[in-house]
Amino acid sequence: MMPNEKALLVGVDIGGTKIAIGLVDNSGNIKNHIRTPMIANGGPEAGLQAVVAAIDQVFRDQPEARETIGGIGICAPGPLDPRTGVILNPPNLPCWRNFPLAQKIEEIYNVPVSVENDASAAALAEVYWGSGNGYGHVFYSGIGTGIGTGIVMNRRIYNGRTGAAPEGGHMSIDYKGPPCGCGKPGCIEILAAGPAIGRRARAKLAAGKKSTMLDLADGNSDQVTSEIVAKAFAAGDALAREVLVETIDLLALWLSNIVDLIEPDAIVVGGGASAMLSPLFDEMKNRMVGYSIIKRSSEIPILRAHYGAESGIAGGAALCWQK
Ligand SMILES: [Zn+2]
Repeated sequence: MMPNEKALLVGVDIGGTKIAIGLVDNSGNIKNHIRTPMIANGGPEAGLQAVVAAIDQVFRDQPEARETIGGIGICAPGPLDPRTGVILNPPNLPCWRNFPLAQKIEEIYNVPVSVENDASAAALAEVYWGSGNGYGHVFYSGIGTGIGTGIVMNRRIYNGRTGAAPEGGHMSIDYKGPPCGCGKPGCIEILAAGPAIGRRARAKLAAGKKSTMLDLADGNSDQVTSEIVAKAFAAGDALAREVLVETIDLLALWLSNIVDLIEPDAIVVGGGASAMLSPLFDEMKNRMVGYSIIKRSSEIPILRAHYGAESGIAGGAALCWQK
């Protein structure tokens, strides 16, 4: 059932420590954005009540919305089953094990409820309302603490046989690379997400290279994070730039694999690290085209995501339209 054209949708973004919620109109504009704590360590009912309390708060702020909402869309960390709306066993949400979240929320609010992985939902929101608008097939990558990925094909989420795909952040680009948390060697996530950017900078400083990053970390190279790399890069620091150019080269190789596999119409990059990396997107694209075997890969734009910290709210709402 498609929501009414004018109906507001509720987008819910559940993380390990917080819940972000907003009302989203049919153009993807977010209203009444609130953030509340998530209770992830208090058992299944406490976790559910944290979500319900957050949704109720949005309705208290906007009482007429409760009667007219067209659906509730929820993104959460995986693994989860988007087909049944069951949260399986996410490490960040110990409160829920095989928990039928969509069904529970549906029983309370009596509207259609969808549940999806955050990157897949964010990808869909970009295609409906964001940087991916106008493109049918889009590869989305959220680069932050980790690397989340989403694939939209023909304006619908592609998530594989059981809804567990795409785990693009755990594609290896180096058989002899460092072990990733998932157990595989050389995943792009362990090589190029935020923590890897900080690690690469610290290694260069430890080798005696000069940089303003050291001043920004009060002289202690152990304190250099990806945020410090971002600040130094924005201020023109050469070593910070070197760190980021190495990072985008790895990302370019990874993206060329993805282009060679699915040849999307566009690539959209979001997540906390996208702002710092975006000045290097042209360079990343040149390198990606150089690696790709597909002749016309130069026609595939690499775009910065429209939604930033609100991508989960927009993504949740987008799920309601797909349903
Ligand atoms: Zn991995």
